[in-house]
Amino acid sequence: MTETTTPQFDPDALRRKYREERDRRLRDEGNEQYLEIAGDFAHYLDDPYIERVERAPLTDTVEVAIIGGGFGGLLAGARLREAGIDDIRLIEKGGDVGGTWYWNRYPGAACDVESYVYLPLLEELGKVPSEKYAHASEILQHSRDIAEHFDLYRNACLQTEVTELRWDDADGRWIISTDRGDAMRARFVVLANGPLHRPKLPGIPGVETYAGHSFHTSRWDYAYTGGDANGNLSGLADKRVAVIGTGATAVQCVPHLGAAAEELYVFQRTPSSIDVRANRPTDPDWAASLEPGWQQRRMDNFNNLVSGIPESEDLVNDGWTDIIGKLLIRIASEGSEADLSPDGLASAMELADFEKMEQIRERVEAIVDDPSTAEALKPYYRQFCKRPCFHDEYLATFNRPNVHLVDTKGRGVSRITERGVVFDDPDTGESTEYEVDCLIYATGFEVGTEYTRRAGHEVIGRDGITLTEKWADGASTLHGMHSRGFPNCFIFSLVQSGFSVNFPHMLNEQSKHLGYILAEVRERGATLVEASEEAEAEWVRTIVELSRNNLAFLEACTPGYYNNEGRPQERSVRNSSYGAGPVAFVKVLEQWRAAGDLPGLEAT
Ligand code: NDP
Repeated sequence: MTETTTPQFDPDALRRKYREERDRRLRDEGNEQYLEIAGDFAHYLDDPYIERVERAPLTDTVEVAIIGGGFGGLLAGARLREAGIDDIRLIEKGGDVGGTWYWNRYPGAACDVESYVYLPLLEELGKVPSEKYAHASEILQHSRDIAEHFDLYRNACLQTEVTELRWDDADGRWIISTDRGDAMRARFVVLANGPLHRPKLPGIPGVETYAGHSFHTSRWDYAYTGGDANGNLSGLADKRVAVIGTGATAVQCVPHLGAAAEELYVFQRTPSSIDVRANRPTDPDWAASLEPGWQQRRMDNFNNLVSGIPESEDLVNDGWTDIIGKLLIRIASEGSEADLSPDGLASAMELADFEKMEQIRERVEAIVDDPSTAEALKPYYRQFCKRPCFHDEYLATFNRPNVHLVDTKGRGVSRITERGVVFDDPDTGESTEYEVDCLIYATGFEVGTEYTRRAGHEVIGRDGITLTEKWADGASTLHGMHSRGFPNCFIFSLVQSGFSVNFPHMLNEQSKHLGYILAEVRERGATLVEASEEAEAEWVRTIVELSRNNLAFLEACTPGYYNNEGRPQERSVRNSSYGAGPVAFVKVLEQWRAAGDLPGLEAT
């Protein structure tokens, strides 16, 4: 990758430009700009992939209920099986396991963290994915294979949405109510609801008036578009299509829409950073040469590099690890002059980031023919302010004569009408209505709303206290997993827990931790486990302290779901992930387990 170490740019000018672009995007409504999908909009959540199967309500009891059948729930189930726990029930809203990979079947969907580190439990299942970045259908099949391998379909409740979890103190069990009329009981519950699981719509005036066909990308309507996850959307050949949003999802589906639609309008508020993808089939000789333990080693190598921890070798060697490569080259080129203090490193990191983003902007210019379209597609913010994207066809799609970028200059779409989408240009004063047959919302998922709203159900703990009430001023947990007053409840989330760009890596660590705790609890003959007040308070203090260091970076970022739409505040500081990074978080959990006496947990 690039070897430059002398800046070819003016850092001050870039800092100013980044600040201007950020300020232009700040909105008074913050996170309130989005519309909850409910009421008249609820049909946007319907499952287009499977018919509903009726069943009688359940009132039975299980040892462990896992809410969510995505990677979190599957990993929890796998590690609990390994810990010798047999009586497990997976409860999943979708018609099958897979979570995000069950719902997101839009054309072009694929992982963009390398599949050899992203797909969990590869060695356990004796598999190596077919490509460096596997496509969604293979990942969904892998999810099913995990469920089969660890016998997690047994006793599972699919197409079942939890509506309430209520602790019954006298019985020492949770009562789980669902939209199927169930009132099942479980001694332990694991909440693996997923961090980006509730689709959202933009609260654009007139959104309810659109009379054409519309859907959210996480419920792709192939009956309308034709084709499948590989593209070939033949139903769109005579259709004018609009896409709102240019995040990681849009980047993957826009090339297929551009190839199929008569006319395609892509409405952009903030351009994504689009780096090289370079997908390739797996080399069978390489796959055959892998030694036992290879996946954990590769996951750790990647996790270290993206956390800024040097490794002698970069095993994954892609766009994610490139920025750290640039930082290390910069430091090496300065030799003994290099300033390795925290401030010195932060400033070297900023330069490496500028360098990386300059390269991203140059790539836009090299690929996109029309200069004003190219300019509009250039991102001006630090790389990790938003999720970086990787694609080799997205930018070139804008060279097609039928594809039109509508750059809303950071403002967003102005209105939606019965016929289409309106943008009022703030610079020229012109108002343009784009009439379309089909409107696709690539507007992402709720982040930063109440945990229980995103989960879709309330959690009612001891003495009738709800999790929403307890967390009204921000979350309160030990390790993000336990919250006092909610005994035997294990939460998998990013809040006060570890965050890695390789999300399943953290889910795997949380699952191993869960397996250890439940095995220990059983070993001690205990039936109840809960965080102590002191341990929880101490963990919250640690989270807040570490997050404050990150606040300046987040405040300077362009608005998005990483920084509460540009307004990181006290509550979001408290709700943030462990600020010392995922590698340090894993160590915290490992050292905690090594102590051997469940410190900070009360097991009775
Ligand atoms: P995002 O939240 O990333 O993107 C939503 C898009 O909608 C943004 O471009 C946003 O603009 C735009 N938007 C919102 N409101 C308006 C408006 N009023 N007018 C115009 N545009 C608007 O959602 P995605 O579904 O793309 O991705 C969500 C996450 O899912 C990713 O960040 C990633 O973590 C994950 N993902 C991973 C993939 C993978 O691994 N391959 C693939 C897809 C998703 P703005 O940026 O200005 O807010």
